[in-house]
Amino acid sequence: MAGTVYLVGSGPGDPELLTVKAKRLLEEADVVLHDKLPGPEIIDLLPADRSEDVGKRAGGERTPQPEINERLVELAADGKNVVRLKGGDSFVFGRGGEEAEYLADHGVPFEVVPGVTSPIAAPAVAGIPVTHRDHASSVSFVTGHEDPTKAESAIDWEALAATGGTIVVLMGVGRLPDYTAALAEAGMAPETPVALIERGTWPDQRVATGTLETIVDGRDEAGIEPPAVTVIGDVAGTRARVLEFLENGAGADDRTEPTADDGV
Ligand code: SAH
Repeated sequence: MAGTVYLVGSGPGDPELLTVKAKRLLEEADVVLHDKLPGPEIIDLLPADRSEDVGKRAGGERTPQPEINERLVELAADGKNVVRLKGGDSFVFGRGGEEAEYLADHGVPFEVVPGVTSPIAAPAVAGIPVTHRDHASSVSFVTGHEDPTKAESAIDWEALAATGGTIVVLMGVGRLPDYTAALAEAGMAPETPVALIERGTWPDQRVATGTLETIVDGRDEAGIEPPAVTVIGDVAGTRARVLEFLENGAGADDRTEPTADDGV
């Protein structure tokens, strides 16, 4: 009998942000196929004798997607229950959609298990709400992987700037100078707050903040590296107050009750 493939999102990296279902499936799986994005703490929890790292091959190359697809089909045909574990949510820039299509085309039973996605979770733990009644009524998730100057770029930065909502860029550390310039050119104010959250919820999470004009220097000074998300918009400017509250709030000895003036 064919096994089932579970396309499981791991969440951003904190093991306590795995869903209850993800945790159960990881415990029960015959094989777990993963890459590095779930982060060191979740990878440490995986059963070493039943796990395959399909993220990188020797030489630092990515395992080609067709190879991963074939491996999933092969294992299922062999009767194995497989967890395909991806960082965040598999269907958000995670190629989960391609894997689902491939499995469907090959008649392999599969199930999709959503995960806590990093463009929401990493800003959240850094004190940034991606929407806010006073600051942003929409949010766009965008890949920063593309060259904004190339003619056939799929991303209309001008249209994004015009939404007035929050923009969260994934895979956008390297091209930060290009798309901040594209947004400035599209008329976004140079003082628009911007935050970079590196390794959100990992033990070594880091945050760099600045504005559309200064964030490239901020990135370079802090040495921010992938994986990181870029949050662009007024919500990034609310961070300081929220953090102050978080630090003085839950769990702190000197907790003070918020007053109406705090706007909370
Ligand atoms: N499926 C994932 C996204 C995969 S694309 C999700 O739903 O979160 C890879 C990009 O995700 C990285 O380049 C980075 O921009 C972002 N990312 C993933 N995990 C992250 C984390 N813990 N902190 C910050 N960014 C993260």
